[in-house]
Amino acid sequence: MLTPPFRRTKIIATLGPATESEEMLVKLITAGVDVVRLNMAHAKHDWTRMIIRRIRAAATKAGREVAIMMDIKGPEIRTGDLTVPIELKVGEIFDFTVKPDGDERDRSEEIRSVDVNYRNLVNDIKVGDTVLVDNGLIRLEVLEKRDTHIRCRVLTPGQLTSRRHINLPGVHVNLPSFTEKDRGDTHVGIEEGIDFVALSFVREANDILQLRAFLKEHHSRARIVAKIEDQSAIDNLDEIIRATDVLMVARGDLGIEVPLQELPVIQRRAVRTCLAIGRPVIIATHMLESMINQPMPTRAEITDVANAVYEQADCVMLSGETTVGKYPLECVSALDLIARRIEDEVANDFPEPAVFLDERMKLRRSAVVMANELPNSFLLTFTRRGINAAGLAAHRPARAPILAVTDSMETLRHLRMVRSIEPYYLASFGDPEKTINRAIESLQKLGRIKAGDKLVIISDVLTQSNRRIESIQLRTVE
Ligand code: PEP
Repeated sequence: MLTPPFRRTKIIATLGPATESEEMLVKLITAGVDVVRLNMAHAKHDWTRMIIRRIRAAATKAGREVAIMMDIKGPEIRTGDLTVPIELKVGEIFDFTVKPDGDERDRSEEIRSVDVNYRNLVNDIKVGDTVLVDNGLIRLEVLEKRDTHIRCRVLTPGQLTSRRHINLPGVHVNLPSFTEKDRGDTHVGIEEGIDFVALSFVREANDILQLRAFLKEHHSRARIVAKIEDQSAIDNLDEIIRATDVLMVARGDLGIEVPLQELPVIQRRAVRTCLAIGRPVIIATHMLESMINQPMPTRAEITDVANAVYEQADCVMLSGETTVGKYPLECVSALDLIARRIEDEVANDFPEPAVFLDERMKLRRSAVVMANELPNSFLLTFTRRGINAAGLAAHRPARAPILAVTDSMETLRHLRMVRSIEPYYLASFGDPEKTINRAIESLQKLGRIKAGDKLVIISDVLTQSNRRIESIQLRTVE
């Protein structure tokens, strides 16, 4: 079978020791990575500035601009430092303590304990709740609450080391959503021109509005990715999707915070809600986890990736696979192969796209319907801020790629996140007719279109009285 010439589903790769050299970055970008993610949980500012510049240089070398997403840590709860690891045994009683300022706790009861960086822990948690440590590896049940600690029983044993991540499933955590660390990190990101900021542990729309205000205050056009990772986010899913620019189904934490059987149900609901209002959506975490150590994905992973593509998500994301994994390039290639194959299936199935009420969306829908009925056609559009192109993508064209021509490099990078869009840069839009002709000429030079190809073009036309009106045109490349 012929491989389709382009992939609709976008690939995000997280950088880490396995992939941060310029040589490796060039290889990743050449292999088809669309967005590079920086996980700020582990990043220092000097490294961040250096790596952003290196990514841009690698993109120039590879001849393909990629977007950069800075993933800020958000309100993480974690344990304090330990001088030696603690071996927690089943049934053992263990305390999590919160230290009021300047207070030295009484450890006279001889019960082993660790500090937690969440002052309101005792108020917000209930007896009977679960405390999960180290990504759910150690499980405890809350037995009682005192002024400065909670007393728990170990249900699942394990070794507790310093500064471990804590999840409190079902507990509404009252920590600020955009922390001091996040502000500092985002500041560096803005100065270095990042394209996306991913906000961790978004719990309500207001969290996104705060970040949006910060970005505006600092004159940044970076787009916001809301990471849904706990039950509060699921309770407020619709308002979060409306408020954000992009949604990420962050299955790592989500899979710990909600009952495991809920995860696929939530993923499906999140993707459908995003599709219904034209919001790009990312499926993240454990897509090819076994490939951290093995060159081949498991059969279940192949099917999981395929499922995200069948659902018509915009992006699939790699984390540990590309930060510390032994086979980062093989992972990108596996995603690429699976996505292309499944996209062909989706096109044959012709799922009914969402219906939008907005008048301009009706026009875009008509263009997509026309392209769907013309074999081997392309959608060609001109987009300054990306709205027009994303509006076409929201209608999920069956086969035609969306060639999105923009005069802004920033918009070009933003469009790397959107399904079905191939962004192209064209300097200074002017008279619409001349701009269309310049775009066609340059796409022909690149070998992307050829004589005889059908183009469904969404562009302005100038009327005799010099008014611009939006139009759909059908042209054949000469
Ligand atoms: C996740 O939890 O799935 C995720 C992407 O977030 P992080 O890697 O920051 O924990």
